[in-house]
Amino acid sequence: MARRVEPESWGRSTVQTACPLDCPDSCTVHVTVENGRIVEMDGGSDNPATRGYICGKVRRFADRVYGDDRLLYPAIRKGAKGDGVFNRVSWDEALDHIAQKVTEIRDRSGAEAILPFCYGGSNGLLTQDTNDAALWRKLGTSRLARTVCAAPTGAANLGLYGKMPGVAYEDYVNARLIVLWGVNPATSGIHIIPFIKEARQNGATLVVIDPRRTSLAKQADLHLAPHPGTDVAVALAIHKYLFDKGHADEAFLNEHAIGADALRARADEWTIARAAQTAGVDAAQLESFAQLYASTSPAVIRCGWGLERNRNGGSAVAAVLALPAVGGKFRVRGGGYSMSNSTALGIKAALWMNDTPEPATRIVNMNKLGQALLEYNNPAIEMLFVYNCNPLATMPDQNRVLKGLRRADLFTVVFEQVFTDTARFADVLLPATTFVENYDVAKGYGPISLQLVRPAIEPVGESRSNPEVFSDLAERLDVGDAETETDTLLRIVGRMPPAIAAELMERGAVTPPWNGRPVQFVDVFPLTPNQKIDLFPAALEAEAPRGLYGFQPDPATDKYPLALISPASEKTVSSTLGELRERAAMLQMHPSDAAERGLSQDDPVRVFNDLGEVQCPVALTRDIRPGTVSLSKGLWRKSTYNGSTSNALVPNTLTDLGGGACFNDARVQVALLGRH
Ligand code: SF4
Repeated sequence: MARRVEPESWGRSTVQTACPLDCPDSCTVHVTVENGRIVEMDGGSDNPATRGYICGKVRRFADRVYGDDRLLYPAIRKGAKGDGVFNRVSWDEALDHIAQKVTEIRDRSGAEAILPFCYGGSNGLLTQDTNDAALWRKLGTSRLARTVCAAPTGAANLGLYGKMPGVAYEDYVNARLIVLWGVNPATSGIHIIPFIKEARQNGATLVVIDPRRTSLAKQADLHLAPHPGTDVAVALAIHKYLFDKGHADEAFLNEHAIGADALRARADEWTIARAAQTAGVDAAQLESFAQLYASTSPAVIRCGWGLERNRNGGSAVAAVLALPAVGGKFRVRGGGYSMSNSTALGIKAALWMNDTPEPATRIVNMNKLGQALLEYNNPAIEMLFVYNCNPLATMPDQNRVLKGLRRADLFTVVFEQVFTDTARFADVLLPATTFVENYDVAKGYGPISLQLVRPAIEPVGESRSNPEVFSDLAERLDVGDAETETDTLLRIVGRMPPAIAAELMERGAVTPPWNGRPVQFVDVFPLTPNQKIDLFPAALEAEAPRGLYGFQPDPATDKYPLALISPASEKTVSSTLGELRERAAMLQMHPSDAAERGLSQDDPVRVFNDLGEVQCPVALTRDIRPGTVSLSKGLWRKSTYNGSTSNALVPNTLTDLGGGACFNDARVQVALLGRH
């Protein structure tokens, strides 16, 4: 709160910072400021992944910073819950009110009646898992399993490889075969695209595996469009092909892997024909892919997050990540796999949180928020503290989340940048700074990177940063001392290895090891206990309901035959920036499915199942496979006719590994709106 300077004295300047939003690329961003206001945002050119440009989403980030929906001051609910009517109050009043409620609830029901709720609204290292975590730990609140995304991929990558660093974007130019599996870089992680294009100019073959014909799928040499939830069958069929046809790299497996026999046994039932039938893909094309993968090197698989979001998602990711091991694709530049690189530098919250031990309190899986708010007891949830997250837009089982937020006896705090769908249901609203107004540390999970996020402008309105507000609250509750964000920054950077800390603070970015381009099994090896790939980890086998690589059948019924998917869009980062969407979102549907239902382009439709109903227009397109419909991820309630989004149709069931969300297990029917 101490760094106010009169904006008029600033003139024009450009601040180099980094984007901490939940996107793999972690761009270096140049923010140009004139008279204290942002006039332009674009990419820094000295970052080998950013290369001078950023996505259209963040290029217009100033529309969020200065937009009509921006929260400018603390406020306390005045009208009925959900009416969105609030009275402006001071920070002292708001925080004293929250502290009083915390004390009351803790004394009456125990601190586990308080549920902190956060996710990657800003993925920076200061905005979560610092002073917030210390506050919750010291109070002994319920703990949150933050598994809405990346939990199955994380479990699989950890189990098989101990999260070994992956192939860098720049090294895709060396590949002869590139496989994009369950990922659409045109909407998320765009900076890989120029390298894919360069590789193709060099003669590389591109394979895309996605139920949609994405822009890259249209350019691909081969596009497989498996039915959602069947990627595990496709991947196991490739394994069987490699083993049976003598393409498995036995020498590599003997030296570097365990569990190959168990994987082979599980793959054995998946002939090309059976997998093709299960996945609804052409058997000849699947076999072509198997041949191509067996015979081409360097071959790299970009494994995305689309294939994890179903009942078989963890096993699917494990089977995909196992392919370069069985196929012998490592040890060359441009060969292997890319998954998340978030752990490559060894920078994690444990470095600064270990001296505040985590109590063994109740764990609530965030994907079950609606159920938790309505049904959990011993104790019931009496306070929900939401930050970096818009759960009404992003969590499964949306109607129960909504019902829970409406509970008269629930005290809800929302600490946010803008007036989100969830914020409307708050009892107390607290305004948060955005990444152009605060310090932070951005860690990439595509490129290996760690960068300093620097404020380019003063906080808008009375907004404050997360570390300041949580430490202020801790002081009011007598469980900690208030800290400025720069003090928090220096404290956590001080826990990093000295060379990393020094470079981060002096240069604003850390030089990654291996120049950011490790060759798997040359520069980096599995970080498993025995430094070998475990192709059949016992923990994953025990966790998956049908065992690792097991297949659970499709949840479709005659009543609800269509698979609904909700992929990332080019307009939002998850739900962030959803306030800027102007038009109603459209359900994408194949013309043959539309014809069966008598639907035409732009018709208003009901998309429904037993959990809820979404009303929106339909767009007919051959870019989605028949039997599957698609509505964008991260929509806000205003983006449909009736205020429900795809998450109103998503069950709160969990993935086979990691407790992840099964967004793509929604099965629905679609009808013309007005026809029942
Ligand atoms: S959202 Fe991704 S592509 Fe866009 S600026 Fe941020 S890191 Fe870069």
